[in-house]
Amino acid sequence: MSSYFNYKNNQLVAENIALSDIAGEFATPCYVYSRAALTDGFHQFSNALQGREHLICFAVKSNPNLAILNVFARLGAGFDIVSGGELQRVLAAGGDASKVVFSGVGKTEAEMRQALDAGILCFNVESAAELDRLNAVAGSMGKIAAISLRVNPDVDAKTHPYISTGLKQNKFGVAYTEAVALYRKAAGLPHLRITGMDCHIGSQLTETSPFIAAIEKILVLVDQLALEGIELEHLDLGGGLGICYNDETPPAIADYIAALLGALQGRTQKLILEPGRVLVGNAGVLLTRVEYIKPGEEKNFAIVDAAMNDLMRPALYDAYHGILPVVREDYAAETFDVVGPICETGDFIGRARELAIAPGSLLAVMSAGAYGMSMSSNYNTRPRAAEVMVDGSTVHLVRMRETVQQLFANEKIIA
Ligand SMILES: *Cc1c(COP(=O)(O)O)cnc(C)c1O
Repeated sequence: MSSYFNYKNNQLVAENIALSDIAGEFATPCYVYSRAALTDGFHQFSNALQGREHLICFAVKSNPNLAILNVFARLGAGFDIVSGGELQRVLAAGGDASKVVFSGVGKTEAEMRQALDAGILCFNVESAAELDRLNAVAGSMGKIAAISLRVNPDVDAKTHPYISTGLKQNKFGVAYTEAVALYRKAAGLPHLRITGMDCHIGSQLTETSPFIAAIEKILVLVDQLALEGIELEHLDLGGGLGICYNDETPPAIADYIAALLGALQGRTQKLILEPGRVLVGNAGVLLTRVEYIKPGEEKNFAIVDAAMNDLMRPALYDAYHGILPVVREDYAAETFDVVGPICETGDFIGRARELAIAPGSLLAVMSAGAYGMSMSSNYNTRPRAAEVMVDGSTVHLVRMRETVQQLFANEKIIA
């Protein structure tokens, strides 16, 4: 558990605010973030990187709430975006376009124009066709696009197959064996300027060895390019550092950085990182209330007011999230499957959890700050949850709960 969510007198608190007070004020389901946890995570990165030219680009897709982006922007962060929409969010949140890197396999012409207009730092290009398209778009605007190629180093990230991205069979990046040829091609395109190389091998990595293997492989390419006169200004090692959801033991941020810097010894390029989950995952929880207890023949169900539309990770990846009572009470503990009200068997938050609860009890679904709200949907016409940020002894509503009217405002009935 993150040190920013703790029990005090049998009450789970976020910083100095009891989660039961937040549920009382903002209702459930509700995401709760700790500003101190966000700041602490960012500082762990920047402290470990002191003395090294670097840029920490928060991966927006892990949690794009404007308040979260603004906290990081004020700390000096850059941003890793994967769509034009995310770029608009970064700018709306006070982020600096000149610290934005643009990843993703499917950038449209409109998104390229938008990013060139804003003046982003670098396009992380993922294919030969994208090089041609970007060159044409930049040319039509009279601009030069800074690029890096996202190289697929073909290393096994040893994570869930859906969030592993650095293997040959994945759709991401350019093939390792083709990278040098593609850099040559890029060097010959008049509206592109080569500035770096990047790789991102997957998410929720709990060991440093795959990162190191990837660095060793891409440094071979960096040296080959240098021999051909293509000097890189930066190396972008992506994101992917994991967090503890249950019993994982990922390296501490400082140890991860130390390992990266060790593998980069003698290299002078600016270091760019794209952390997402590790900065926000354990900085947020999802508050939910038990609606019903339903004893079954084989198992007991706790039916709660949060569902797979609010937190998709259990349904999508069979992911584990800790589930804690917001108030520790004297009910007899029993084993429950904690499930939502959605009409899908995959709609569960946690299975076989020992909990002392009754109808009306509040639960905190832990480690929900990353890929929680950002993957939420309106399935079953469920308005998305409210989001609040705790800052010491203050709590701010940072996203109002959606209304049902908003959900069908863009629809119309035909004659
Ligand atoms: C998703 C993503 C990240 C962030 O990954 P985390 O596992 O959340 O750190 C970074 N870079 C790219 C290109 C991504 O797609």
